[in-house]
Amino acid sequence: MPETPDVLALLRERQEADLPVHGGRTLAYVYDSGLAEVDRLGREAVAAYAGSNGLDPTAFPSLLQMENELVGFAADLLDAPQGAVGTVTSGGTESVLLAVQGARDSRPDVARPSMVLPETAHAAFHKAAHYFGVRPVTVPVGADFRPDPAAVADAIDDTTVLVVASAPSYAHGVVDPVPAIAAAAAARGVRCHVDACIGGWVLPYAARLGRPVTPWTFAVEGVTSISVDTHKYAYAPKGTSVLLHRSSALRRPQLFASAAWPGYTMLNSTLQSTKSGGPLAGTWAVVTALGDQGYLRLAADALEAVDRVVAGVGAIPQLRLVVAPDSTLLALATDESCDVFTLTDELVARGWYVQPQMSWGGNAPTLHLSVSAATLPLVDELLEALTSSVAAAVAAGPVRVDPDVVAFVEALDPAALTDADFDGLLAASGLVGPAAEGVSGGLALPERMAEVNALLDVAAPAMREALLVAFLDRLARPVREPR
Ligand SMILES: *Cc1c(COP(=O)(O)O)cnc(C)c1O
Repeated sequence: MPETPDVLALLRERQEADLPVHGGRTLAYVYDSGLAEVDRLGREAVAAYAGSNGLDPTAFPSLLQMENELVGFAADLLDAPQGAVGTVTSGGTESVLLAVQGARDSRPDVARPSMVLPETAHAAFHKAAHYFGVRPVTVPVGADFRPDPAAVADAIDDTTVLVVASAPSYAHGVVDPVPAIAAAAAARGVRCHVDACIGGWVLPYAARLGRPVTPWTFAVEGVTSISVDTHKYAYAPKGTSVLLHRSSALRRPQLFASAAWPGYTMLNSTLQSTKSGGPLAGTWAVVTALGDQGYLRLAADALEAVDRVVAGVGAIPQLRLVVAPDSTLLALATDESCDVFTLTDELVARGWYVQPQMSWGGNAPTLHLSVSAATLPLVDELLEALTSSVAAAVAAGPVRVDPDVVAFVEALDPAALTDADFDGLLAASGLVGPAAEGVSGGLALPERMAEVNALLDVAAPAMREALLVAFLDRLARPVREPR
């Protein structure tokens, strides 16, 4: 072999630019058990199976065995009856996509299928609507950020193929009234999917720890499928989620075979065909290592951390908890002395990554925190960082977007904008700076995001979508050799 550069050293160097995935200070995107040995096991299992192909379970029987064991663990956790089945997918979005696809294809008699969604349902359902032509019918939520089950029932009609509930919702961390929603769906003979992507591995333990949890598992009559992401609170490496169905008959439309070509007969249970065995093996290793008792302790730690953050936030007058959390997710809002976008930047500058959520449906923007077990020993530090970040944000004052710019953005029709318009807008918004040396795609990302987020926040949702799509298009440009 010719002399090769030390590519692993190069990777490590590049990774320094990324958010830390361990350490308990990244409160979105990553979930940290704080157990270095478990992380090591997960990583080594991913590496050991990186080349294995989940396409054919007869060729890689160990992958089939791991999948069935993992689904069995999830089925026990979620009170699934005998006869329940499941599939390991690549993530929450794929689980949601398949739940919607399966529901649609179970009703070939419905020409224009629709699904009923609380407006707090994850955006993955809108993606599924877009991909599969299933019209979303959204139901508003009340002051407690939960839908009224009567309104859900009223929204069901002859075109409804699926009713959705969250356990909990991502943005506000509250569990929908699943028993009444599932009953309404069952009364109309419609499938009911519970999206427990983020809470499914925590809430059962919360209940066992004696916390009040609205019933939402397969113990609830009428719940036909549940999604739960193992790459969130099962603390597994990225790339897995479990989609469970109450019966194999309910799952059947999800399975796909094609013999309509001269090659192997394609036989798939997910959107992917060839799929790395790595994420499944990594998840199996982590779940096997932690086991039920391990997860009970990690849930207790994460929930204790949440309680302490909630108590601490109560002592910061400019901050308010938007709604009491049912699980490990918090949404915080500020008073008028400061804004969440500046607060986000201040926290990031102090080594705490939190996620801003835009204003929506008349509600102020919020700060999202997904709290992990690894954050428990750091809660005092987090509260200190919140306190000093709030002070800095108050000193800076809320970001103001120039009223002329607001008027300009409000008047724009995203559907009518050209590429050149977007280039101008992206530059004016500060989303893209002049091309920086050596930066992929030639775009420089701003250090502080408050001004950009404040501008996006005044834009209507359709404009936000269009601007960010244009932004992503500009980011994703190949790095080519000069010629
Ligand atoms: C994270 C999440 C999803 C989407 O999952 P991905 O793994 O990001 O694709 C769907 N629903 C809820 C409630 C989630 O929290």
